Amino acid sequence: MANHYETLGVSQDASDEEIKRAYRKLARQLHPDLNPGEDTHEKFKAVTHAYEVLSDPDKRRNYDRTGDENGAAGGFGGGGFGGFSDIFDAFFGGGGSGRPQPKSRTQPGRDGLVRVPIDLVDAVQGKEVNITVSTAVVCSLCHGSCTEGDTQPVTCETCHGSGHIQRPVRSMLGDVMTLAECPACAGYGSRLVKPCPECSGEGRVREKAEKTIKIPAGVDTGTRIQLQGEGEAGPGGGPNGDLYLEISVRNHATFERIGNDLHATLSVPMTQAALGTEVKLETFDGDQELDIQPGTQSGETLTLTGLGVPSLRGGRRGDLKVTVNVETPKNLDENQRELLEKLAEARDEQFTQGKLAQRGFMSRLRDKFRG
Ligand SMILES: [Zn+2]
Ligand SMILES: [Zn+2]
Repeated sequence: MANHYETLGVSQDASDEEIKRAYRKLARQLHPDLNPGEDTHEKFKAVTHAYEVLSDPDKRRNYDRTGDENGAAGGFGGGGFGGFSDIFDAFFGGGGSGRPQPKSRTQPGRDGLVRVPIDLVDAVQGKEVNITVSTAVVCSLCHGSCTEGDTQPVTCETCHGSGHIQRPVRSMLGDVMTLAECPACAGYGSRLVKPCPECSGEGRVREKAEKTIKIPAGVDTGTRIQLQGEGEAGPGGGPNGDLYLEISVRNHATFERIGNDLHATLSVPMTQAALGTEVKLETFDGDQELDIQPGTQSGETLTLTGLGVPSLRGGRRGDLKVTVNVETPKNLDENQRELLEKLAEARDEQFTQGKLAQRGFMSRLRDKFRG
């Protein structure tokens, strides 16, 4: 398949205006009223599709990046084609090259999207959550047939069942005869004599549905979970769309997630850092003993292997990394100050700074030899 830029005859860095101009020119050339050639229809379709992708900033970005025009940037629920397919349908009567077909009352249902906030512990361990979704379900009275009892729809008198009428329309391509949706039957080609009173002839009703959802361990903010067939019921007994859950993970007071690792900071008093100690740390896997070695420095990291977040795709868990923050004592009383002064004296502690540190060390060494 030709690349969309080639189809429109523009360069990859063409501006929106250039793309629009190129499309208008081609669309005029390829318009079936002016140019009823054999492959005109296919070409027009390709050009229109290329324009549809490249004129939408999101779709174009996604197309440039992946070459895929139906990727994530396509968005939800719309079913893809927006206003352009309307023009397209108007020219060609629904995309087919034959006679225009009436719309079916039976249509697929839309996808749903629900945001699900969870705690970090649930992202680590997985969780079942209950959600309430505003959705559409099949009408319990007509079961999707849209009519009351066993009454049948009758053929529309205005369009004789085609669902379309001929109408001159002023479009961006000039005045053209187009097929428009029949206003009398809304394009269905038939009328409901007795619409179902429960759903007003739609075959479905809106409802708040409760669902219990399993959130797998490893999800992160932005993770989307697709539940096939759990979206809205379609009109006229059409198949259900899908339901998407978008996860957002609340911040935790102690742990921060980076990739599949959890990070925490542990404050250790200076004396404990110097002497060494054991600390109990509350983790998602219960209390863990942390061995603080004598002489631990501020900024040192202890790694608890496998206590991080599981990978969504399976495999090993990330790690829990604890960074030690050595706390220097403040507000010393008289007694404490004396103790520290004695300690400083005993250790002959000096200021050290960059390279000077080494010189200080060397001069102390010399002093020792002299002494
Ligand atoms: Zn009904
Ligand atoms: Zn009609």
